Amino acid sequence: MEVTRFAPSPNGPLHLGHAFSAVVGHDLAASRGGRFLLRIEDIDGARSKPGLAKDFRKDLAWLGLAFDEVPMQSSRLAHYAAAADRLRARGLLYPCGCTRAEIEARAIRHGPEGAVYPGTCRLSPPPPGRPLAWRIDMAKAVAQAGPLAWKDEIAGTIPADPMAAGDVVLVRKDAPASYHLAATLDDAADGVTLVTRGADLFAATHVHRLLQALLGLPVPRWHHHALLADASGRKLAKSRGSAALAERRLAGEDGRALVNALRQGRFPAGIRLAST
Ligand code: GLU
Repeated sequence: MEVTRFAPSPNGPLHLGHAFSAVVGHDLAASRGGRFLLRIEDIDGARSKPGLAKDFRKDLAWLGLAFDEVPMQSSRLAHYAAAADRLRARGLLYPCGCTRAEIEARAIRHGPEGAVYPGTCRLSPPPPGRPLAWRIDMAKAVAQAGPLAWKDEIAGTIPADPMAAGDVVLVRKDAPASYHLAATLDDAADGVTLVTRGADLFAATHVHRLLQALLGLPVPRWHHHALLADASGRKLAKSRGSAALAERRLAGEDGRALVNALRQGRFPAGIRLAST
């Protein structure tokens, strides 16, 4: 049975781009007789406001998108820590005390997630007394896992290239997992067969595919959908104040009509599908 998901982070209200993503995930499951899951990623982001989860559920109900909710990330911390321990025991993680500013200043290249970590703490241990994150030794991990590929329903078969992301953080300073580790473990635990999400997370999949290989997790397929963009071509973002779904809901707008319009590619004025 096909299992898709919508995995918002409660660090700001949902906007139209989220509605579109939820419609894609919901409809792919519905058209295949499958299940559509809601997972609240409440450790993905330091500014997480778990109270927003209630609004997210109301927003989806208002849109007429039926879902099954799976456990929030904050209830799975021990599971993440155990997976990190396994990777640590294989010598694949190392502690890093670098600050964002230090990484920016020393970075030699930039990847999909910004400055690629220059390996400072892999080459010499972090100075004592600093809060520590744990990073993956990517070259070593890739050598252990061997060549990998993953399948996207839209983009086809993609050779995995996790080296492009560099030594990403798997255990954050303030949480027992980063987005990469938590989301990969969750998709496996939730029985997700088709990871539905925006094309902005396409590059992250290279890392997720590697983690699946290292941790012996089942390998789903992916469906990275195009993003909604505003008139200037920028993707809709909470930070740029795209109208919240909750505002529309409370203003009495018809959520089901909005979903039908999104399904037909009829977007509100000034909004279109980004070309990526
Ligand atoms: N929590 C992520 C976000 O809100 C999405 C993660 C995912 O779909 O894999 O951007």
